[in-house]
Amino acid sequence: MPDRPSPTFAQLGLPPMLVHSLGREGITAPFPIQAATIPDILAGRDVLGRGPTGSGKTLAFGLPLLVRLTGGASRAGRPRGIVLVPTRELAAQIESALDESAVSMGLRMASIVGGVPFKGQATRLSRGVDLLVATPGRLADHLSQGTVALDDVKVTAIDEADHMAELGFLPQVTEILDRTPESAQRLLFSATLDGEVDTLVARYLHDPVTHATAEAVAAVDTMQHHVLHVPREIKYETVARIAARAGRTLLFVRTKAGVDRLTDELRAVGIAAGGLHGDKPQGHRTRVLAEFADGTLPVLVATDVAARGIHVDDISLVVHVDPPTESKAYLHRAGRTARAGESGVVVTVVTEDERGPAAKVMRAAGVDVDPLTVGGRDRRWETLTGAREPSGTPVPEQQTAPAPLKRETPADRRGPGPQRGFRGRGGTRRDGTGRPASGQSRRRRGGS
Ligand code: ADP
Ligand code: MG
Repeated sequence: MPDRPSPTFAQLGLPPMLVHSLGREGITAPFPIQAATIPDILAGRDVLGRGPTGSGKTLAFGLPLLVRLTGGASRAGRPRGIVLVPTRELAAQIESALDESAVSMGLRMASIVGGVPFKGQATRLSRGVDLLVATPGRLADHLSQGTVALDDVKVTAIDEADHMAELGFLPQVTEILDRTPESAQRLLFSATLDGEVDTLVARYLHDPVTHATAEAVAAVDTMQHHVLHVPREIKYETVARIAARAGRTLLFVRTKAGVDRLTDELRAVGIAAGGLHGDKPQGHRTRVLAEFADGTLPVLVATDVAARGIHVDDISLVVHVDPPTESKAYLHRAGRTARAGESGVVVTVVTEDERGPAAKVMRAAGVDVDPLTVGGRDRRWETLTGAREPSGTPVPEQQTAPAPLKRETPADRRGPGPQRGFRGRGGTRRDGTGRPASGQSRRRRGGS
C-alpha cells in the first residue's frame, strides 16, 4: 500500500473497542475504500461502493454495519443486519473476516447458506442473530417457511452485486429487500457496478453516496499480465509444467467438466491439484479450499463461479487456462492474486483459434501486452511462470483426504455449519454462546 497519510480507524468514527480488536488482528490503518465509506455508513447513508479486488471491501461495509447494530438486541428469528453474498464460500469468508469484530462488539453473527441442513439453521435463527450473512436462495427459503422475519432489519449489505445478477439471484434479492423496512439502510458493494445492478440501485437505494476508489480495470499495479500463444497440441503439457511451479497457483477453466479433467490430468503427472466447481458437494468444496489455503494443495483448478470473491493469501500466479469470454471475468479471475498490496502474475493461455476473441477481452480489460510464444526458442515464458517438469509420479486421491481438519465437537455440530472446514485449523469457531470456541482468526494482514 502506498505510504501516505490516511485517517485512523478511530478518526473515521469506529469505537475504541473495535479499533482495539482490529489492532489485535494486525489491521491498524484503513485502506482507501474503507476511509471513504466508513463515515458515510456510520452516518446512516446508503452507500454504493466500488473498488478493485483485494481492496478491502469486506471491512469497508462490515465494520460500520456492526457499529450500526450495537446498543440493541435482536429478537428471535429477527436479525437486524443482513449481508447478502452470491456463494457459500464467500459467506464463510465474510463471517470469518468479521468474527472477531462482532465478538468485540457483543454481537451475534450466523450464516445461512444452501447445502446445509435447514433445521439447524432455523434453530440458530430462533436463538437470535444480530448480523446474518446469507446466500439469497436459502434466505428466501427461510422467509417462505417463516423461520426468519426481516421487519427489524436496520441495514442490508449486498456484496458482489453484479455477480449476484449474473447468477440469476436478483428475484430472490429483490424479494428479500422487499421484506426489509422501506426506510432501512442499504449498502451495495462490488468490483464492478453495471447492468442489472443499476436497476437494483434505482429501486432500493435512497439517495446513495458513491465511492469508487479506483477503476476496476486492471488497476492493480502490483499485478503483471502475460499472454502465452500456445499450439493446441501442447496446451495441456504447458499448463502442467506451469502448475508444477513452486508457489500457490490458481487455474481457471471454462467448464465444470474441464475442471474435473484438468485436475485428473495434473494429478496423474504428479501435481497435487484440487478441483472446485458448483456441482461438487459442499464438503468437498470446503475441504479443497481449506487445503489450498493451508498449502496441502498448491494448485486449485476452478470455474469462474466457484472462485468469485474468494480470498486466499499468497496466490502468486493465476492462469486463464481457457481465456475468459468477457473482460469482467478476466478482472475477477486476475483479482485472486496481487491482493492487499502483494504482487502477482496473471497468465492467459491462448491457442491459435482463440487469439481474436482473447485479444478483444484483454483490450476491454485494459491489458495491453505483447504475447510470448510457447514451443519455440524463446523460453521467457518459463522464467516468468517458474515452469518446470512435473515429477511424473501420480498423486493418489487419498493423499488429500481425509481433510486435516479438527474433529467436530457437539458444539460445532449445533453451530451454523458450513464454514467450519473453510476456516480450517486455527479458525474461529462459534458455538451457541456467540464466543469463539477456540483458536485465533486466520485473517492475516495484507500488504506486508
Ligand atoms: P475485496 O472484497 O475488496 O476483494 P477483501 O475485503 O477480501 O477485499 O480484503 C482483502 C484482504 O485485505 C483481506 O485479507 C483482508 O483481511 C485484508 N485487509 C482489509 N483491510 C485491511 C486493512 N485495513 N489493513 C490490513 N489488511 C486489510
Ligand atoms: Mg470482497
